Amino acid sequence: MFDEENLKSLDEENLKSHIEKWKSILQLKDWNIKLELVTKEWRKTGDVKVDQADKVAIVLINNFNPKQTNIEAVIVHELIHIKLWGMDQMIENLFHCVYGEDENDIKYSFAYTQFMELLESTVQDLTKGYVELGACDKSLSYGRIQKQADDEWK
Ligand SMILES: [Zn+2]
Repeated sequence: MFDEENLKSLDEENLKSHIEKWKSILQLKDWNIKLELVTKEWRKTGDVKVDQADKVAIVLINNFNPKQTNIEAVIVHELIHIKLWGMDQMIENLFHCVYGEDENDIKYSFAYTQFMELLESTVQDLTKGYVELGACDKSLSYGRIQKQADDEWK
């Protein structure tokens, strides 16, 4: 028997098992982490909402038009964001102390952009390392540049 509903629920259980596996590896066992599948057009492949004080988080995964093929890697990426959340928020609060909260202020936006790029590249480097060491699917996702390459010649 093969129908779409079965396939979706199988996928969801598989994603939940990835979350449990990586929660343990990343020392996040005392967190409650819920999975939500996004089932309509969405510009992202994954995201995470975090409440540090309550140690709860919601991992959002694009199940409609994912832009990356290695979903386990997306889960690892989002869980590393939870791991770094305290530091991430501390630095963001420091920006507010130093530069205020005006997103149009050039100093604020420069510092914030630098920080976000550094945060994302650090999270992604750690993700690649963990995926290579312990993921079921070790394939590297080339994401948006793969589409650019495909558009170029295919
Ligand atoms: Zn990220």
